[in-house]
This record gives sequence, structure tokens and C-alpha cells, in this order.
Amino acid sequence: MGRNASGIYIIDEDYNVVSYNRTAAKIYPGLKKGEKCYKCVMNNDRPCSECPVLNKIEGPKTYLDSVRKILASVDAVETELWNHKRGYAMVVSVVADSERLSDTIMGKNDDLRFLGVINVLGSDYCNIYSVNRKDRSVQIYRFRGHAMGVKEALDRNNDYETAVGAYIEQNVLSEDQGKLRQALAFENACQRLTGASQFTVHYRVKRDGEIHYFYVKCVRVGEAENFESIVFAFANEDSDVQRYEMEGLLEPEGTAGRRKVLVVEDNELNREILCELLKKDFDVLTAEKGEEGLKLLSEYYRYISAVLLDVCMPVCDGFEFLERIKDDTLLSSIPVIVTTGSNKQEDEERCLELGAVDFVTKPYNRRIVIARLNSVIKFRESAAVLSAVEYDELTGLYTKQAFLHHAKTLIRYRSNQEISFIVADVRNFKWINSVYGEKTGDNVLVYIGQQLRKYIRGGLISRYGSDQYVCAVYGEHDSFFEDIDEKVKSISADAPVPNLVINYGIYCNIDKSLPVTLICDRAFLAMKSIQDDYERRVAFYDEEMSCKHIRDRMLENDFEAAVANNEFVAYFQPKYDVKTEKIAGAEALVRWIKPDGTMIFPGEFIPLYEKDGLIVKLDECMFRQVCSIQKQRIEHGEKIIPISVNLSRASLHYRGMVEKYVEIVKDTGIPFSAVPIELTETAALYNTKIKELTEKLVQAGFQLHMDDFGSGYSSLTSLDMLPFNVLKLDKSLVDFINHDRGRQVIRHTIALAHGLGMKVLAEGVEEKEQKETLKKLDSDEIQGFYYSRPLPYSEFEKLYMEI
Ligand code: C2E
Ligand code: CA
Ligand code: CA
Repeated sequence: MGRNASGIYIIDEDYNVVSYNRTAAKIYPGLKKGEKCYKCVMNNDRPCSECPVLNKIEGPKTYLDSVRKILASVDAVETELWNHKRGYAMVVSVVADSERLSDTIMGKNDDLRFLGVINVLGSDYCNIYSVNRKDRSVQIYRFRGHAMGVKEALDRNNDYETAVGAYIEQNVLSEDQGKLRQALAFENACQRLTGASQFTVHYRVKRDGEIHYFYVKCVRVGEAENFESIVFAFANEDSDVQRYEMEGLLEPEGTAGRRKVLVVEDNELNREILCELLKKDFDVLTAEKGEEGLKLLSEYYRYISAVLLDVCMPVCDGFEFLERIKDDTLLSSIPVIVTTGSNKQEDEERCLELGAVDFVTKPYNRRIVIARLNSVIKFRESAAVLSAVEYDELTGLYTKQAFLHHAKTLIRYRSNQEISFIVADVRNFKWINSVYGEKTGDNVLVYIGQQLRKYIRGGLISRYGSDQYVCAVYGEHDSFFEDIDEKVKSISADAPVPNLVINYGIYCNIDKSLPVTLICDRAFLAMKSIQDDYERRVAFYDEEMSCKHIRDRMLENDFEAAVANNEFVAYFQPKYDVKTEKIAGAEALVRWIKPDGTMIFPGEFIPLYEKDGLIVKLDECMFRQVCSIQKQRIEHGEKIIPISVNLSRASLHYRGMVEKYVEIVKDTGIPFSAVPIELTETAALYNTKIKELTEKLVQAGFQLHMDDFGSGYSSLTSLDMLPFNVLKLDKSLVDFINHDRGRQVIRHTIALAHGLGMKVLAEGVEEKEQKETLKKLDSDEIQGFYYSRPLPYSEFEKLYMEI
């Protein structure tokens, strides 16, 4: 059977097989029309627990088929049968087969959930094993030495009881051996785990003459009635305490953030001690009596992370408390740590039997209480995360966490196949929400999920962020890329709202050695490259983007130092009077000159700095340079011509900008006319805020030049509305001057500008012919390579001297 096989079989609502394709028959040779699918596929007597139909879950589900030793992904799609009844198409693909499974930790009878539990246990535990309930075979997930005898016993016959026996005998302090043996006897552990999903046993280990405090956590993998295996995780409590303290130092809020803990304790003094001890790390609720505690618990169970319960209380004591919550699935999911003064082994045992997950003894040791609380909370929360966070509630797609987890698996098992990542991001989703309402917003999100599912069969699809999706596709499923533009168009065209714009970023044939999040980043990078592009919807990632990304980060990182180091230098491009052909002014243009002499042009960093706001500082820096040059000339009694500076819109909007620039001019003592300000002409210019700001600049005494007129967003209305003195015709217009229509546009623009009392300067003039025509069309000034390129001050100074 090919590893990439994917099959489809159709069932009716009662799970009867209606038909199937050849690939499905290859994967499941037992498939038979008319029979229950769970019978002929899995030899079960009822629908399989993983079945997507049963689970009413949309989106593929991965499970381990232990009969055929394959890891398969199965998805269900509702369809109409020939008799118009409802049915389901089951889409199955093999993610990995036995050949590959055997060399991984998933080799034996474990399923993905087990992997999940292991993942969550993380690095806190030194040794982790799982034991299969049926044959008691042991699987080592992590073994970090120290535990004497275990490895040898396992190597010999891989039997749980022998290994545990050896461990206890060779490591555990003799006083604690009996209790640990009792607790870890497999049947006893199973028994206990039908009542609670986890329990902890503490014991001491003697090593190198020193006593170490250890505990083992036992957690069932699966539901109470029929769990398949138990995970045993061993840890050293001393290092636990140290770790939590370290984390506490790093995170002033405490490791568990502000979780709520309920303290049930009748003795006032003890209650106060506990509150005092916990209040730095937790929000503490207290109850004096068992009864009261139960009431608080049922009221606030959603918010309570753990309970500290005194066993000895009058009326409703700890045992009764535990007994009463035992049968309530909601309440019993909250971990209860029992506080006891006795240290009596029977008490400890009885509590564990009733479902307490751990205990602490009086007098309390703060570090131990906190560490144990944190440990049970973490354990519980991670277990909850596993089941609850797999699917996104709204769209039914994988959540981000689930996606990251499954994508990792996918990448590992598809090592010989190309995998590609696709990200999709709704442009202006906030706007959709506010215009059409949140309900429609939700519909849009659901709709996009459905569309992606329609086009991406068998890959992984997730809702990655509020309005973002990430998909992983592989092998034959990447037909998404065929006619991609058509698909993208149709997704937008049939959407619940008009003009839905979705940007896609695609990272083809991913580098499988990278972490999944980095792979996603690359796809996002591609997507972001077209964020401001109104024509392209799909962008493919390439190495260049990564390079640009890295380069951009470098340009940003180096900025401050470059400013301090005076690496941003003004160059000067002269402006010529058309009639006299004499120099009439200049424009300051920034150049970044690195210490090694290399020059970076503004096209590379200005757009970046405009986005991240650094431009504000850069503009001011240029402005100061120009002011100080003008000042020097005045001080030397020389004539000056205006040297204009560019001001980006971000700078204009910066609070206090006008006041600051006025102050700089006044401080240097030059006339305002010596430093005209160039502002880009865009449609956005025409709004009241801009009008206000520009008027303020003019009132202060500045001259304003409208830059880049005709470059795309020009609006003639703004010519009239805003107080500009000079209109700069953009190079793109000048380039068309030899065409009839181009010449007409320029002629009329010049006439209009003159009519409004503005001068006209033509930019980017490179040829004599252009200059001649502009002269005829009555342009006032010309700037361009025809006369001069932007020059460093040393060269510009020579020209400047001649005036
Ligand atoms: P801009 O303000 O439109 O400046 C004119 C650009 O056209 C300059 O490019 C100049 O070198 C170039 N140019 C001038 N004459 C010719 C010509 O005849 N042919 C051609 N092909 N190009 C010509 P530069 O210096 O690379 O600057 C690019 C842009 O960067 C500027 O466009 C401006 O928007 C921005 N910029 C430069 N310095 C600053 C600054 O200090 N602050 C801000 N905010 N932006 C700046
Ligand atoms: Ca300019
Ligand atoms: Ca310009």
C-alpha cells in the first residue's frame, strides 16, 4: 500500500457502507457494502470513538489504527445519498504506516492523545513511562538515568511489575517502600484512576547518603471507563521547588499567574497561615466549614484552580467533602490537595482513594505548598488544554495549538513528500465587523473555513488567529495551487459580504528542518509583502523575502547608532530656473553612508521607517542639517537659496512637530523661506487634520511644496484647499511629455497651478528635449539629472558659491 494512499467511502446515517473507492478498499480490505462501517473496518460493535461523524466534528482527525498499524487521518463530509437521505463521505488518508511507526515512540499501542499527555508533561519530569493496560508492556518516553535497576529490568522482559519492583527496592527509602509498592501496584493504580484522572504519591529516595524527596504522578490516558494506558511520571520535588522559585523570580506575578485557590479549613489560625502563605501567588477564597466549601466550589468551579482541604473538620469533614464531589464530573475535575496534621498513612491513602490528587502536611512549608499547588494546576490545565483546544468553536477548524502539534507530526511523517504552507488573512476584518455586525463577521469566518476545506482536502487547516488561517498541504492534496487565482476569486465572489479581500501567503516545499512556527512566519512574510498591494492577492515566499526581512530588521536595529554616528547625510540636488538656467534652489535628499563608505539609498529604508515611525527622527535630523548649513552661510555673509527638505506624513502627524520645527528655525536664526518643506501629495492629504497642520506650518512662516504631483493619487481639489506655494510635477508625468496627451495634462496642470498662485517645478528631467518643452509650457523650475544628480555638500558648495 502506498503511503500516500487516500480513500473515500460513503456511509448512511446508520453507519451502513453505501459505496467506496478502490483506495479505500486497499486501506480497509474488509469494507463491505451494506455492513456497518465500524464492524467491517475496525471490527467494533459500536461506532468508533474517533469517528468524526460521531463526534460531530468538522475537520480531519488523526488516529492510530492499531489493527493495521497505521496512523490515519479521517474526515467526514456530509453528502446527500441517491435516495435523498443524508449520508457522509469518509475521507481517509494514511499519514504513516507501520514501517515508519516502529522507529518512533508511537511504535506500540499509544495514540496521539498519549503523545499529547507526554508533550504537556514537558521537561519537568525526569522519567516518564507509559504502561499499556492490556499487556502491561512498558514504553519509556524519557529516562534520565539515576533510577537504578529499571532499565535492566525493562531490557530483560519489559514487564511493568518487575521494573517497578526493582526501582522501589534499589532506590526508595525502606520506610516508604511499602506504601509506594501498594500505590503503584498496577491494579490499584487502575482502580484509583477510575475515580480521578491523576494522583500523586510522595516518597523518599536515598542517594549518596542523602535523602531526596520524590513523587510520582500517575495519569490515565483516556476516559475513566475504558482508558488504555497509564502514564507514570517521576520527579524530584527539590528541583521542582527550585524551578518554581526560579520562574517566580523571572515572573513577578508567580508561575501560576493569579489563579484562584479555595482553602477549606475550620481552624482560624491555620486558615490565616495558609492565606498569608498563598496570597502572593494566588487569589485565595476561604471556607470555614466543609458545607460552605462545597457551596463556594459549586458556585465558582469555573474559576477555582485547586482546593486545599483540611481532613479533620467537625460535621462535614474532608472525607465527606471528597465523597460528595466524587460523583460530580465538573467538581471532581478540580484538583483537591488535602492538608493533614497526622502524617498517618491510612489517612493519606483514604484521601487518594476518594480522589484527592496530593497532600501537604502541617506545619506548612511555603515552598512545598506552592510547588505542589502549581504542579497539580499545571497538570490539570494542560490536560484540559489537550481536549478542549483542539478545535476552534466557531469554524470547527483546528486551533493554532492543535495545528502546531499536528503539523509537527505531519512534517515528521511526510519526510519524503513536499509540504506547503498556506496562510490566509482577511483584510480589514475589523471593518467588516463594525459595518455589518459581529454576526456577519462570524459568518464570514465560517465561510472562509468552509471554502478552504472545500479546496484543501486532507491537509491540515486551522484558524490561526482571529481572522487568519494557516493550512498545511502535501502530496496530491496540493491541487489547491492549480487555478489558484480562480479559486481565490471565487472565494471572494461568493462571500456573505461584498468585496471581501483575503490575502494569501504561500510557502511552497517547506524546509522541514525548521520549527513549525518559523515555517508559518515565512508564509506570513509572503502574505505581508502584498498587504498594501491592491491588485495581488497571492504571494509566494522566496529566499529573497527572508533576506529582505532580515535586512529590514538590521536597518531598524542599526538606526539609533547610525543617527548618533552621523551616518545619515544630506545630499543636495539643485533646482534650476527655466528662464535664466541658473540655480534657484535645492532639495536635500538623505543618504546613509556607512563607516566603510558604502551608501544606502533612501528607497531602501524610508518606506520601512515610515511604517515603524523611525522616520520622525530621521526627518528632524535632515532638517537640522539643512538649517545649520544655511546658518553657516548667513554667518559668513553669503547669499542663500532655499533648500527644501522632505517631510513624511508620519512626521507631520507627530504631536508637537510644528512647534518643534519652528523652534529649530528660530534657534538657528535663519528665515523660514530658507527651508521649504516638501509634502507628498496624496488623496489622504485632503482631510481636516492635514488642512489644520499645513495651515499651522504656513502661519508659522514655512513655504510648502507639494511633492510627487501626478504620481497616482493626485486630486485637483487639494490644490485649491491646501496652502501650497510650489507644485512639483512628478517624474512619471514628465516622462510622458513627448506624448500628446501627456503634454496636454502638463499644460493644464501648470495653468491651473499658476491660476491658483503656485509656482511649478518639474522633477526628474533627464533630457534636453524635456527641458525645452517644459520651458515652452511655462514651468518655472526644473530639477533632474539633466542639470545635476544629488551631490554631497562638498560638491554642491561649489555650485552654491557661484550664485
Ligand atoms: P523625492 O522626494 O521624489 O525625491 C526625488 C528623487 O528622484 C530622488 O531620489 C532623486 O535622486 C531622484 N531624481 C532626481 N532627479 C532625477 C532624474 O532626473 N531621474 C531619475 N531617475 N531620478 C531622479 P532619492 O534621493 O533616491 O530619494 C527617493 C525618495 O526618498 C524621495 O523622493 C523622498 O520621497 C524620499 N526621501 C529622501 N530623503 C528623504 C528625507 O530626508 N525624508 C523623507 N521623509 N523622505 C526622503
Ligand atoms: Ca521630495
Ligand atoms: Ca518628488
